[in-house]
Amino acid sequence: MTIPTGTEPRTDLIGLSRQELAALMAGIGEKPFRGKQLWHWIYHRGETDFASMTTIAKPMRERLAERFVVGRPAIAAEQTSGDHTRKWLFRFDDMNEAETVFIPEQDRGALCLSSQVGCTLTCTFCHTGTQRLVRNLSAAEIVGQVMVARDSYGEWPSIAGDRLFTNIVLMGMGEPLFNYDNVAKALKIIMDGDGIAISRRRITLSTSGVVPMIERCGAELGVGLAISLHAVTDQLRDRIMPINRKYPLKELLAACRNYPGSSNARRITFEYVMLDGVNDSPADARRLVRIIKGIPAKFNLIPFNRWEGAEFNCSSGKAMRRFAAILNEAGYSAPIRTPRGRDILAACGQLKSASRRQRSGLKGP
Ligand code: SAH
Ligand code: SF4
Repeated sequence: MTIPTGTEPRTDLIGLSRQELAALMAGIGEKPFRGKQLWHWIYHRGETDFASMTTIAKPMRERLAERFVVGRPAIAAEQTSGDHTRKWLFRFDDMNEAETVFIPEQDRGALCLSSQVGCTLTCTFCHTGTQRLVRNLSAAEIVGQVMVARDSYGEWPSIAGDRLFTNIVLMGMGEPLFNYDNVAKALKIIMDGDGIAISRRRITLSTSGVVPMIERCGAELGVGLAISLHAVTDQLRDRIMPINRKYPLKELLAACRNYPGSSNARRITFEYVMLDGVNDSPADARRLVRIIKGIPAKFNLIPFNRWEGAEFNCSSGKAMRRFAAILNEAGYSAPIRTPRGRDILAACGQLKSASRRQRSGLKGP
């Protein structure tokens, strides 16, 4: 990190760790506790204007404003669905774009964050996987999605209680475990009790199965784990989720068995997209029960959301109910998810931005 002198463009403070913020203050001759004060204004109060940070002496506020900004990503589009789901299309400094979705429910609401522009994986049922341009989002760009959502619902300061935005799911664009460092840095900022203060118990990270990163995710971050399973044989999973060729089911399920912190009170969620005639038979459901035996598990059955050009159809209601019943009989919770925000293309697997410039993609570990 370089210490700004005041002549170059102002540095954005969003996305810096507590330590980095303290170091930045030290670099301009301020006491490290100034970093703590700033942190509180930025992440607890949601303040973007240094002039309003009244616990900081006025001359210092002026010096800060000369060198720094408390930024937000540019909003290229914002849409609200008939069911109140809200979607933002963000445009970052290099003109790349990513989407974020907020899904309100009766007494809670989850923000679905993106971790990459596009995705290097090419799961055949997922619209994001067809996007060519891919890059990792920075910690600032990930935290920025949360800041805008809080702004949008007017939920500053971060005091627990009667609020709509309570949970975070990393289920937007991208594979979060291919961008682990930035995701971890962002989540540590988001979980900090003196800031945004969304606890790890209210955060769920979804992965397509990046086996070598799963244990670290549980040990370091302690967030809930969701696995995009979608198939019960390697043969089918290899075909619809290319990552399975690298990390087959046996290894993936072993990583789930060893996930730090999972218990009957904190189960691993297995997401299962319902594809007509592909993975939705009673035999598939019975095999699913067999292969996840011993893992504290629950299921999310996701009706396939069609997008133009997709090669699949959604299973019939009857097939989905039959599938769910077999899981229920085996003692598992297996709700069939009601798709949200379909009218604004905000439902699972529909996200795809216009960042299409061709460029060689990033590779996972
Ligand atoms: N890349 C991560 C995070 C994305 S989560 C992962 O794959 O887990 C989004 C969830 O929606 C995943 O379970 C994904 O498999 C699922 N999904 C993708 N395309 C879908 C579609 N068209 N309909 C329903 N669910 C879909
Ligand atoms: Fe990427 Fe997840 Fe979509 Fe697969 S399902 S292409 S891993 S975003």
